[in-house]
Order: sequence, then C-alpha cells, then structure tokens
Amino acid sequence: MSSPIVIGAGHNGLTTAFYLAKAGLKPLVLERRAIVGGAAVTEEIAPGYSCPTLAHAIGPLRPSVVRDMRLARRGVAFVHPDPRLVALSPDGRALEFSSDTARTAETIRAFSAKDAERYPEFCSTMARLGGFLAGLMDMTPPSLSAPGTGELWDLLKVGRRFRSLGRTDGYRLLRWGPMAVADLVAEWFETDLLQAAIAARGMFGTAQGPWSAGTGAVLLLNAAIDPAPGGSSVMITGGPGALTAAMAQAAREAGAEVRTGAAVARVSIRDGRATGVILEDGTEIPGSAVVSNADPRRTFLDLVDPIELDPGFLAKIRHYRCPGTAAKVNLALTALPVFHGVGNPGALHGRLHIGPDIDYLERAFDASKYGGISPEPYLDIAIPTLQDPSMAPPGRHVMSVFVQYAPYKLAAGHDWETGRALLTASVMRALNRYAPGIEQLVEHTQTITPMDLERTYGLSGGHIFHGEPSLDQLFTMRPILGWSQYRTPIAGLYLCGAGTHPGMGITAGSGQNAAREIIRRL
Ligand SMILES: Cc1cc2nc3c(=O)[nH]c(=O)nc-3n(C[C@H](O)[C@H](O)[C@H](O)COP(=O)(O)OP(=O)(O)OC[C@H]3O[C@@H](n4cnc5c(N)ncnc54)[C@H](O)[C@@H]3O)c2cc1C
Repeated sequence: MSSPIVIGAGHNGLTTAFYLAKAGLKPLVLERRAIVGGAAVTEEIAPGYSCPTLAHAIGPLRPSVVRDMRLARRGVAFVHPDPRLVALSPDGRALEFSSDTARTAETIRAFSAKDAERYPEFCSTMARLGGFLAGLMDMTPPSLSAPGTGELWDLLKVGRRFRSLGRTDGYRLLRWGPMAVADLVAEWFETDLLQAAIAARGMFGTAQGPWSAGTGAVLLLNAAIDPAPGGSSVMITGGPGALTAAMAQAAREAGAEVRTGAAVARVSIRDGRATGVILEDGTEIPGSAVVSNADPRRTFLDLVDPIELDPGFLAKIRHYRCPGTAAKVNLALTALPVFHGVGNPGALHGRLHIGPDIDYLERAFDASKYGGISPEPYLDIAIPTLQDPSMAPPGRHVMSVFVQYAPYKLAAGHDWETGRALLTASVMRALNRYAPGIEQLVEHTQTITPMDLERTYGLSGGHIFHGEPSLDQLFTMRPILGWSQYRTPIAGLYLCGAGTHPGMGITAGSGQNAAREIIRRL
C-alpha cells in the first residue's frame, strides 16, 4: 500500500504531514524549493546577513500544534516582545502597544484622554468576540447542502455560544463583520494614529483599503487569532525558518519523509481518483491520497488536468480571488537606525507601523486599484537581529519591511522589472521620513515583488494568504462554496493550505484541521 503524498512543505503542509504520520500513514512531502517553509523561511539576503524573507511575525501558532510537535523542546525560541507594536507619528511621537492594556492606555493618554478611557473596553470586547470566533476557526466548516448529525450538533453548539455572547456583543459581531474597518475604529477612537494602527489589521495582506466593506471581518478574524489590538508580534530566534525547520524535523520523527527540490508537475488521476503525482523531471510517484499545500488556483489550474474537473467547478476556481498587493524590502544595515519618537531601543524589538492615519492608508490603497505602486506605502517593520544578533555580522542588522500596496497586476505599459526600483525608492522615502539617515546605513537591499512571490515562492497572484480573506471567501466558502471541508471533487485529493478555512497567517490552523478530516476519511 502506497503512502499519502503532501505537495508542498509550507508550515501547513508540514503540520498535516506530522499528524498523518502520527496516525501511522507515513506521508511523503514533496517541496519544489530547496528549503522547507514556504512563506515562513529565513534566507541569506547578502553574505553574512540572513532575514525572514517573507513573513517576519508568527500568527501566533496554535498552542496544540506547538505542544504536539514539541517545538519548544526542539529548540524553537518563541519571543514575545513588549511593546508588540510601535506606531510612528510624523510629528516625531510614537504610540506603543504593550501586551498590558493599562500600560497601553497610559501611552494613548498622551494623544487623547478620551481614547485612553475607551481602550480597555475595546480590548475586552475584541477578546470576547475573538474568543467566540476562535471556536469557529477550529471547526471544519459544515456542509450546507447535506449536514450530517455531527455537523448539526456542532452548529447547535455554535448557536448556543453565540447566544451566550449576549445581545450587545452578538449585535456587534453581526454588524462589524460587513463594516469598513475605518468606520469601526472611528466609533471607538478619535486619535488618527491609534485608528490607523488598529485598522491596519483589517487590511494587512488584502486587496482592500480601510474604507472597503468587509475589512471589519478581517479585523475580527485576526482578533480570533490574537485579540490584542496591536496584533501578534511573536517572533522566532533565527526567524520563521527556524520554526519550519523544526516542524519538518517533527514530521520526519513522526514517520514522514520530506523531500526538497521535488516540484510536482501533475496530480495523476485515474477514474476520478487521485493515484499519485508526476514530478517535473517525469518521475511518477504513486500515493494512496494526495494532499495539496499549494494554493487552490495552483492546485486546480496547474496541477490537475482540466478534463478531470466539472466546468462549473473550474469556473468557480478561476473566479477565486487572489490579487496580491504586498511586497517585501529586506535591508542589510551597517548599524541600528534611529526612529523618531523611539527613545528606548528595547521598543524596536517588536513591530513598527508606518501609516499615520486612515486617509494615508486609503491613499496607499488607491494607487493599487489602478495598477500603481503606492507612492507613500503602509509599512510593517521588524528588526530580527535584535532577537538574534547572529543573523548579521557583529554590530550590524537586518530589517524586514512588509510593504502594502504593490499590486500584482501593474497598469498597462508597466511591469515589475521597472516597478522594482520604484517600489524600493518609495519604501526608502517612507523609511527616511521616520528614521532620517537610514539610507546611509544600507549595505544591501532585497526587493521581493508580488511577481517574485508567485514565481519564486509559488503564491498564485502573489497573494500572501493563498486568496483574499473576504466575506465571500471565508468559512463555508473557503476556497469555494461546497468545498470547504478540505476535500475536492477528485476523490483522494485534498487541500491543506492557507486557501482553506481558517487560512490567514502562520497559525497551522488549516494544516491541523485538514489532517483531522483526512485521517477520518482515510
Ligand atoms: C510577504 C509576506 C509576509 C507575511 N507576513 C506574515 C506575518 O507577519 N505573520 C503571519 O502570520 N503571516 C504572514 N504571512 C502569511 C503567511 O506566511 C502565509 O499565510 C503562510 O505561511 C501560508 O502557509 P502555507 O503552508 O499554507 O503555504 P505556503 O507557505 O505558501 O507553502 C506552500 C508550499 O507549497 C510549495 N509548492 C507549491 N507548488 C508546489 C509544487 N507544484 N510542487 C511542490 N511544492 C509546491 C511551495 O513552494 C511552498 O513551500 C506573510 C506572507 C508573505 C508572503
């Protein structure tokens, strides 16, 4: 009897492989790149400098996955910086989001006494609503057409939990999801910088601006992962690559085989059932099942022969939206830059936010709607060498800059070859405004465009979450209505990546949920 095959060694693929191995199924993981990790990797960006090339903060990961994979015992050092986030103001001040609500409220007081008073209530509301939604994240979305008894029972439990939220929170939950996050934060706070730093969580990684309807839902989903308004700043010593290397080790020890440099060209299908894969070098590998960690578009439009799929299903997958808008600029620096308003270098250990008000964020988005690169982009920054100085030569640093908006599809007459320099220049201009003189510290720049995200890292459309986390592509509709239970129309072919529920960042939620369903069916 052959083993199940997992296509891709992203953190979700590794999680699924780990649980399949624990169930005695001996999976084979095939990764096209030379290293494991997918979007959670640490790579050398210049001689002596290594950097989280893509993601720099971690979901956070589900605690049960951390425990089951024994990641701490494998040497994974999770760092929880405090403050988590420092939002920079153009007037030279900064707003620090600590894990301690009262301490954050005190820093808000310097901007607005009224906002400082409201902040604790906002935090506790987010924690309650996030707590309710966290229960949904763990679930396999129910079948809407033919729910089984177990699914009906689960839905009943969800209904009970919803009722226990009470009237006010229940109403908030229903109302906030479809709202624009800009309206949502304006109902709570008057300080521009505070509004913008919180609203950014509702648009991070999406093709939406703060005034887009439905960004309230993205904020709430993020609250289900971590309710603190500043978001998660869990970092890993050595970067996310150290995490995914340990996850691969856990999967191997449990009985999985993990092969790198093994790009899958096709899923073999016989009589409507997945029977294995064919690699790009022509090697055929039989498998008892095939689980794809690649995104839904890549899986169905590149790896499956269209003749095997119903035209209606194919049309829906073609309409599955994954318009990437994010890019990365990674810098090798000769020294630690000095940011306006950040007197204590300890405050640089978490993330830094550049995007001072809602209008700034919306203008940054506006450019991308018409295929333009934001002249004044929204930036989310980390300096990983503060956690692990060995990532650069002594006294030197790497800086990881997440950039939004950089649309995958540029306006007619433009391409990412010329766009790359424009993007780098606009990021450096924005950085220089908050850290004057930073340009003189730059020894090397790595710019990763949405086109690179697709070509090098395998993300269709350059979308960082394998598809837009919008209301029409969530829960029972992720990736598409009728196929949210990790199964596909091809028997024996499953999905386990971020394009499935609950998706989003590095939480391992999709990989763990998918494994549960696959084990049940196998
Ligand atoms: C620039 C950027 C910044 C981000 N920032 C954050 C952040 O700060 N915090 C956070 O939590 N999340 C962040 N994310 C999102 C997060 O990294 C992803 O959502 C998550 O890593 C997806 O994991 P995955 O395992 O589902 O897929 P992936 O990590 O994409 O893994 C899929 C794997 O499949 C492989 N593959 C694809 N096709 C084939 C094939 N044909 N054959 C073999 N292998 C194949 C790919 O090479 C890849 O290794 C960021 C992502 C990006 C791109």
